[in-house]
Amino acid sequence: MYIKDLLSKKRPTVSLELFPPKKGDTLEKSYEVISKSVALKPDFISVTYGAGGSNNKNTLEMADYIIKEGAVPLVHLTCVGVNEEMIISELTQQKKIGVKNILALRGDLKDGIPIPEDAKFRFASDLVEEILDFGGFCVGGACYAEGHIESANLDEDIENLKKKVDAGCSFLTTQMFFDNSVLYKFLYKIREAGITIPVLAGIMPVTNGKQIKRILELSGASLPPRFKNIVDKFGHDRNAMEQAGVAYATEQIIDLIANGVNGVHIYTMNKPDIAEGILNNLSYIIEV
Ligand code: FAD
Repeated sequence: MYIKDLLSKKRPTVSLELFPPKKGDTLEKSYEVISKSVALKPDFISVTYGAGGSNNKNTLEMADYIIKEGAVPLVHLTCVGVNEEMIISELTQQKKIGVKNILALRGDLKDGIPIPEDAKFRFASDLVEEILDFGGFCVGGACYAEGHIESANLDEDIENLKKKVDAGCSFLTTQMFFDNSVLYKFLYKIREAGITIPVLAGIMPVTNGKQIKRILELSGASLPPRFKNIVDKFGHDRNAMEQAGVAYATEQIIDLIANGVNGVHIYTMNKPDIAEGILNNLSYIIEV
């Protein structure tokens, strides 16, 4: 199933994001996480990819397992530091196992060093074109409601985003954000800029007070005072923070759906029980 077809249905969609096993973890553990995630009946499950090609075998193995479990995978693919041959090899393997959807990404720059101008893949838009030339895939891209960290401002980032969309993306997924008004402003701006494809809102349930500093550093997302108060109050207590994180993410999603944002992508951080907590809270809401 192509994700663009899933998104064309006039109902809310919920997708989950998983990452491949980290050092010391096994694929078997990831398979357990996949089975539990599939049982929640998400519209699709995305699997992240290590920029530069690390972990790529596990990403593929996880996509294969998702297909075998009867769900739709969205496979992330980055192009920083790789050549055309490596991309073709990756696409060939993905097609062979039945992957139909790819999230085309550039990946983070190594040590912040820009990619040379004569490189085949400088931006995600170059990868989008390559995948579409290869054929057989529905391609999505990333976007940043608060602007990508390397862009001078949001307007410049949206200009560049338009190039990626014009290259042939069928949908976009946002970086996490914690203040819905930031997303509404972004959606208004991109629609004004002529970007009309579906945008999936990336929601991160923060369930661990210690994780928040690193999340903010990596994502560039800002923390609204209301959420900051929650982390200050409950961040030291695992159970309390988990409950508050699930409730906050639930509230964000209800507000998004009430305001016509139909695609929600939950950064589940390989915790299907957290995703389950949120989805239980939304059981009637996502059916409306
Ligand atoms: P691009 O779209 O290429 O944009 C990168 C920067 O270049 C932006 O500042 C943009 O404004 C600018 N730009 C783009 N096109 C042009 C142009 N033509 N001319 C001038 N400037 C331009 N990383 C991973 O390593 N693995 C993952 O699995 C992964 N999954 C992700 C999923 C989502 C939903 C998101 C939001 C991010 C993910 N990332 C992942 C992180 C991502 O790789 C980084 O944020 C990276 O720095 C940018 O990738 P991009 O695809 O958005 O790049």
